[in-house]
Amino acid sequence: MEVTAAARLRFALQAACCYTVPMKHVAIIGGGISGLAAAYRLHKAGARVTLLEATDHLGGVIGTVRHGDCLLETGPDCWASNKPAAMELANELGLGDEIIGTRAGVRRSFILHHGSLKRLPEGFFLISPMSIKALIKTPILSWPGKIRMALELFKGVRRDDADESLASFVRRRFGKEALARIAQPMIAGIYTADPEKLSLKATFPAFIEMERKQGSVIKALRKRAKGEAGKAKTGGEVSKAAGPRYGLFVTFKGGMSTLPDALADALPEGSIRKNTRVAGLKREGESWQLVTDAETINADAIVLALPAHASAGLLRDTDAELTDALGEIEYAGAAVVNFIFDRSQIVHSMDGIGAVIPAVEGRRIIAFSYSSVKFEGRAPEGTAVVRVFMGGALNPEVAQASPDEQTQIALEELRGLIGVKGEPKFALAGSHKGAMAQYHVGHLERVAKIRELARQHTTLAIIGNGFDGVGIPDCIRNANEATATLLDQLGA
Ligand SMILES: Cc1cc2nc3c(=O)[nH]c(=O)nc-3n(C[C@H](O)[C@H](O)[C@H](O)COP(=O)(O)OP(=O)(O)OC[C@H]3O[C@@H](n4cnc5c(N)ncnc54)[C@H](O)[C@@H]3O)c2cc1C
Repeated sequence: MEVTAAARLRFALQAACCYTVPMKHVAIIGGGISGLAAAYRLHKAGARVTLLEATDHLGGVIGTVRHGDCLLETGPDCWASNKPAAMELANELGLGDEIIGTRAGVRRSFILHHGSLKRLPEGFFLISPMSIKALIKTPILSWPGKIRMALELFKGVRRDDADESLASFVRRRFGKEALARIAQPMIAGIYTADPEKLSLKATFPAFIEMERKQGSVIKALRKRAKGEAGKAKTGGEVSKAAGPRYGLFVTFKGGMSTLPDALADALPEGSIRKNTRVAGLKREGESWQLVTDAETINADAIVLALPAHASAGLLRDTDAELTDALGEIEYAGAAVVNFIFDRSQIVHSMDGIGAVIPAVEGRRIIAFSYSSVKFEGRAPEGTAVVRVFMGGALNPEVAQASPDEQTQIALEELRGLIGVKGEPKFALAGSHKGAMAQYHVGHLERVAKIRELARQHTTLAIIGNGFDGVGIPDCIRNANEATATLLDQLGA
C-alpha cells in the first residue's frame, strides 16, 4: 500500500496521541486481528468506529481456550518478534510484560524422515544450508541429494525478472530431494501452500537477492553466518538456526487471544457489534451505506478487514473489476486439533517444540507442536498439550472434515508418529475454512492491480492477510498503513 508523507506524519502524530480528526464515522467489517488493529488506530485518532463481526467471536482465526489448567490455541500459537508491528502494538496496549518466548533449552524440532522423527539439522536457514558442514551432517538427505544441494554453489544465476514458484527455484538451485525433504515441509507450516504455486517474489524475495548478488544462496548465507559469528564475539547472537529461528517466536502468557481481547477492551462501549454479518455495501455520494440482517448503517469510510474473497463479495455492486481482482487471490482452509494427554501416555522424548511432516511421507497432517513444551504455562507438570496442524492447499479435504473426523485423523497420525498410549483426556478440533491466503505466482502483480483499482474509491481501505503478508505482524502493519491513508483522506 502506498503511504504518503502526510499520512506517515499523521500516523506518527496519532501514535503520539496528540492528533485527532473530527468525529468521522468509520465502519470496520471483520473482527479478526486486522479489523481490530484498524479500529483501534482509528479510534485513537478520534474517529467514531463501528466494528462489525459476523460471529460471536473476536480475533478471527485467533482463539485461546482454557480447559481445566491447560491453555489451548485453536488458531495461531505465536508470532515472529523480528517484525515489529505486533510487538509495538502489544507494548502500546501495556501487554509488554505478558509476552513470553519459546522455552530455552528446547529450541529444536523434528522432521519426519521415512517414517521416523529426526532432529531438524542445525545450520539450515529454511530451505538452504548455511554451510557445507551442516549439509554433510544432515540425516534427512541421501548422499546424492547432499551432493546435488552442494552444487548450488556453482549453479548459474537466473536473471529473468518474472516471478517463479518456490518449487521451481528450489529444484533449479538445490535439486528435487531438497524440495521434497526440506523446502516443502519448512514452508508448509507458514503458508499451508503448494510450493509449485507459491510465489517466490511474494514470500521469500531475500533468496532472489542472494542468488543475484552472491551467485549462490549457500554462499550468501555462509557470509551472513560469519557476520553473525563476528557479532557474537562482541555480544551478538550466533545463528545455529535449525530451520526457523525459534528464539524469535513469542506469545502471551495468557495465550494469543490476549491481543484481540485487549484491542476490543480499548474500543469504546457499543462500538463492536458481534453476530452481525455485513451482506451488502454501496456508495451513497460521499459516504457509504452498509446492510446487515438487522439494519442499514451509514459511514464516512469503510475498512474491509476480511479474506479477499469476502471483500470481493461485498464490492460486487460497487466495482466489478475490483471484485474480480480480489477474487483472484486464492485461499485454503486449515484445521487445528488440540489434545491433552498425561505425559506418560506419550512414548516420544518430547525434547523439542514439535515436528514438520513432508508431504512425500504421505501423512494427513502438516505439523504438530508440543505446546506444553514450546511455551510455559500451557499445562501443569505431568500433562502434555499437543497441537496438530492439518489441511492447507495440499490436503484440502481435511479442513472440510467434521471435528470428530479431524480428531480421529490427528490421533491416528500421532499414534504412529510419537507413540500415544490410550485415549486423550481431552480433544478440541476446529477448521478455519477459506482463511489462509495463498500467495501464488504473480501475487505481487495481482495485489498492485487491486491497490490501483481500490485507489479510485477514496475512504475505502481493504486489508487482511490476502495482500502484504499472512503473519499477525504483517496484518497489523497493513492495518496501520491503511488507516493512516484513510485518516489522511478523511482529514483532507
Ligand atoms: C490455523 C492457523 C494458524 C496460524 N498460525 C500463525 C502463527 O503461528 N503466527 C502468525 O503470525 N500467523 C499465523 N497464522 C496466520 C494469521 O493468524 C492470520 O493471517 C491472521 O490472523 C488473519 O487475520 P485477519 O483479521 O486478516 O483475518 P481473520 O482472522 O480471518 O478475520 C476475518 C474476520 O472477518 C469476519 N467476517 C467475514 N465475513 C464477514 C462479513 N461479511 N461481515 C462481518 N464479518 C465478517 C470473520 O468472521 C473473521 O472474524 C495462522 C492462521 C491459521 C488459520
